[in-house]
Amino acid sequence: MQMKAAVTHSKGEEFRIETIQLDEPKSGEVLIRVVASGICHTDMIARDQEYPVPLPAVLGHEGAGVVEKVGEGVTYVQPGDHVVLGFAHCGKCHYCLSGRPYVCERFFELNFLGNMEDGTKRHHCEEKGLSNFFGQSSFGTYTIVNERNLVKVDKDVDLALLGPLGCGIQTGSGTVINKLKPEAGSSIAVFGAGAVGLSAIMAANAIGCGTIIAVDVHDNRLELAKELGATHVINARNVDPVEEIKKITNGGVNYAAETAGRPGVLRQAVDALTFCGVVAQIGAPPLGTDEKIDTNNLLLLNKTITGVVEGACVPRIFIPQLINLYKQGKFPMDKLVKFYRFDESNQAVADSHSGKTIKAIIKMD
Ligand code: ZN
Repeated sequence: MQMKAAVTHSKGEEFRIETIQLDEPKSGEVLIRVVASGICHTDMIARDQEYPVPLPAVLGHEGAGVVEKVGEGVTYVQPGDHVVLGFAHCGKCHYCLSGRPYVCERFFELNFLGNMEDGTKRHHCEEKGLSNFFGQSSFGTYTIVNERNLVKVDKDVDLALLGPLGCGIQTGSGTVINKLKPEAGSSIAVFGAGAVGLSAIMAANAIGCGTIIAVDVHDNRLELAKELGATHVINARNVDPVEEIKKITNGGVNYAAETAGRPGVLRQAVDALTFCGVVAQIGAPPLGTDEKIDTNNLLLLNKTITGVVEGACVPRIFIPQLINLYKQGKFPMDKLVKFYRFDESNQAVADSHSGKTIKAIIKMD
């Protein structure tokens, strides 16, 4: 069938909205009419070839849509179902089988190397295959997704709002709820107040952290952080965030999340921890980044550093939980969002890059 997609042809280039061809869904696959897709920093990393996604490609990995047609053997969804598109995983490896699809052994291959699980492509432009991204390529009016990556959602919530639950929002909130698991009343510092960091702050607030500290360099983001539950905010342009955090918490925080993906910030997060503190690295710094950590400080204070991908969540369990919290008013993710038309995709990218928009969502209709 014919469809429209925002195609990325070469490194760093703006999207071009073009008419392309989409194959039929194969066995285990589902044709989705995409309603909306969030824009995430990882799309830009792929566009700029910091991750080696073969171009040309249809990027986009925070899609939400309606099931149009199912391939052979599909049982989880039927036409008309509302779905959030999740990350690709194999479903067969040690980590998938043990309930940790976010560390699937084939995660990098299936999400970044351009092909569906069987090694072929579904999107084509003048006979040439277009790379798939994250198993979903959501910057288009339709796409084909493996059944395994879909999460069915309630029809009484605005579907256009839900795409980012499949990546940025679950990454921030899942890290807090599924991985760090802070005790009620404990303290947490979140470095970076973009969509991922603000999602971590909303989650920390929803589950009862006592002290929630947001660190960023943009005052408008810090204002929003306060609205979403931060008890303290620090502009790292003006002061040393480690000293400030120690002052606020009388010695250091119990938990921290590094969402900025900037070299040097992990070190600050580790230094800001108190005894037995745990820090999660969530932001993706440039490949090859290394950090200097004070090893004796880590040892003597029994600190832990852990990486977390996709919020350590099983999307079919966690995304409906977040939607419940949203319906109860405990997870106001709509406050992060600004909607754009499909033909405003490049503006949406520019506004995300400048920090003007926290979470841009492109509506396809
Ligand atoms: Zn796997």
